[in-house]
Amino acid sequence: MFPPETVILVVDDSEVIRESVRKELLAIGYKAIIEADDGKKALALLEGASNTSSPVGLVISDWNMPNMTGLEFLKKIRATPKWVNLPFVMLTSASQISEVVDAISAGVSTYVVKPLDGKTIKTKLAGVWAKHHP
Ligand SMILES: [Mg+2]
Repeated sequence: MFPPETVILVVDDSEVIRESVRKELLAIGYKAIIEADDGKKALALLEGASNTSSPVGLVISDWNMPNMTGLEFLKKIRATPKWVNLPFVMLTSASQISEVVDAISAGVSTYVVKPLDGKTIKTKLAGVWAKHHP
């Protein structure tokens, strides 16, 4: 499982969703949570943190956002050598299930269908950690 000090970048244009993800992560024991409300700002935060002693270790991102969608954000990340293996969890709505294949081919680690619940997030994160640390 991701260690408790993991820096987690939560990206969603909905403040309510960001707050609910933060709450679930805090309940699991994660405290180093940073937030952005679109892919563009998230990319800037990711880059800013990458040369510090606490780079982002996990991205949890919404799909539908202004300026840069979650899928575009994911593609930028996977096109950057240092982030090829950065764990990336996509938040999707139930109506988007048919598009999930696009995220999978773009290299998403896993996806979570909203609304979120704490148990699902914990299970998904454990799976993602295992996938990235075989
Ligand atoms: Mg959205």
